Amino acid sequence: MNEEKKKIVLPNLMTVNELAESFSVPVTVVIKQLLSNGVLATINDNIDFETAAIVADDLGYDVSPREEDVSSLAPELKRVETGEPRPPIVTVMGHVDHGKTSLLDYIRKTKITEKESGGITQHIGAYQAEFKGRKITFLDTPGHEAFSAIRAQGAKVTDVVILVVAADEGIKPQTVEAIELARAANVPIVTAITKIDRPEANIQRVEQELAAHNIITEKWGGKDVIVGVSAKSGEGVDELLDLVLLTADLQELKAQKQAPALGFVIETKHDPKVGYTATLLVHNGTLRIGDAFVVGVRAGKVKSMEDYLGKRVKEAGPSVPVRVTGFGVMPNAGELFEVVESEKVARDLAMSKAKQATARRISVTSSDLSKLTAQIRASRSSQIAVVLKADMQGSLEAIKNQLAKIRTDKGEIKIISEGIGNISESDVLSAEGEKAIVVGFKVDVAPSATSMAKKDRIQILTYDIIYNLTDDLTKILLESIEPEKVETQVGKATVLKIFRDDRNEKIVGMKVVSGRITIGNVVRFTRGEEEVGEGTVKLIKHIAEEVGEATPGTDFGFLIATSAKIQPDDMAEFVKVDYRKAKLI
Ligand code: GDP
Repeated sequence: MNEEKKKIVLPNLMTVNELAESFSVPVTVVIKQLLSNGVLATINDNIDFETAAIVADDLGYDVSPREEDVSSLAPELKRVETGEPRPPIVTVMGHVDHGKTSLLDYIRKTKITEKESGGITQHIGAYQAEFKGRKITFLDTPGHEAFSAIRAQGAKVTDVVILVVAADEGIKPQTVEAIELARAANVPIVTAITKIDRPEANIQRVEQELAAHNIITEKWGGKDVIVGVSAKSGEGVDELLDLVLLTADLQELKAQKQAPALGFVIETKHDPKVGYTATLLVHNGTLRIGDAFVVGVRAGKVKSMEDYLGKRVKEAGPSVPVRVTGFGVMPNAGELFEVVESEKVARDLAMSKAKQATARRISVTSSDLSKLTAQIRASRSSQIAVVLKADMQGSLEAIKNQLAKIRTDKGEIKIISEGIGNISESDVLSAEGEKAIVVGFKVDVAPSATSMAKKDRIQILTYDIIYNLTDDLTKILLESIEPEKVETQVGKATVLKIFRDDRNEKIVGMKVVSGRITIGNVVRFTRGEEEVGEGTVKLIKHIAEEVGEATPGTDFGFLIATSAKIQPDDMAEFVKVDYRKAKLI
């Protein structure tokens, strides 16, 4: 008999009660199912689609996500393949003082027509220049922070990186960092050797240093474009812009002007007169006054827009940076914004995103963590082995960078396998061999992987926020390292008399010779060279009074938990034992 599974469509987020209603089963059935899958939830708790899908599967349903949720909750900034050409977005990067700002200022001064540039009254993090009748969007250097944040989401905010290296100084640490950032984000690099007007300028030396980092000038048969410029005289700047356009053209950048706007927050500011403002860079579509949008997990509505010249505008198309007001809460640099059909949709979507972020967070409970650390401690391993899965290469790289920093002198986090995509049975299998934890970032867990992990006692932890992921893994690492035992000598005494001699407890009269002895101290008895045994101080009495400590000069009665065979004249040495928790280095 071919038994068809019943089909059900579920939203991205629902309460346990709503889920039970959609299956027409009592809510206790759902709670029980959740519990058997390791999720402790009550009737009004929100659960996300992935968790609901597991219950649905257990109850014999074939489940799929609601269509509008799929489209609106995963607005990945994919490359737009069709549409009209759009201006390239260019970021200038390099070591401090190598001339980034000067170069941007020179371009701003010379490539924005005179009439317009008079209007530049305030600084915004991005501007558009015009060269040979074409526009180029430049992101200012503070954009770096946003650049990293955006990259962590796996998207590209920039189409070309201008790598600035000063002709008199050559490659410095931040130059190398910029090269790595651009390469990791797969953005082509055009190198500008700046300050060529300086007497100490040595272009050839810089070219050699660049070659050592695999940026090889075309002069030497390489594929990289390197041009010498001066922000003082303007020499080489036109050539640089030509090369930037050429490099951009190879990518055939496109965008759909008519689409609802989608893009990123470049920088934010609180203006006492108008409230929160943010510079948004439109990636695709056109942003208009009155548009309802979601940024991060908040809703907003475009109240006013100004271009990079401070001029009020009504709309901003692809690659255009605009300063926008209309946020209820300050957004964060690097956050994605997307325009939706109405304010209500924006509010609902924002709410659902916010809840989803917490729902995923709740799925990692503190009992999960303590179970895990107990397991790892028992295995006496100094490494936390991790199978890492993320939604995109960018986030994977960002997380790996963060995890590499989580180290102690006794242990570290070791990624034994990594990949893009949902957590599957094969991830659980790789974890099994090495007793690893499966960690997912913005990915789903296949129901089959969940049940396999449950059976094999493999922990799967999923996150939506990198900070929470690194925070939990830090806790796991620190907690799983056996604390270091530190002993301090606190005092000495001689045994005078044994008042009570039970098997595991004695009352011993002693005279303190030195130090200060308190309850909880460990005591070690010796007889000449011979070790007699050790115990713990439970109580200290002086005459008939209980006291907190024993000091030299008088006799005290000690209640000691010990099975050692103590005799008068034995020496007692007291130590205080502390356990020092592991710390990050
Ligand atoms: P940033 O930190 O990379 O933004 O560097 P700046 O643009 O602030 O430049 C640092 C210093 O180098 C400033 O004193 C500039 O005047 C100087 N400078 C920048 N570009 C040039 C150039 O092409 N020629 C000369 N002679 N000085 C430059």
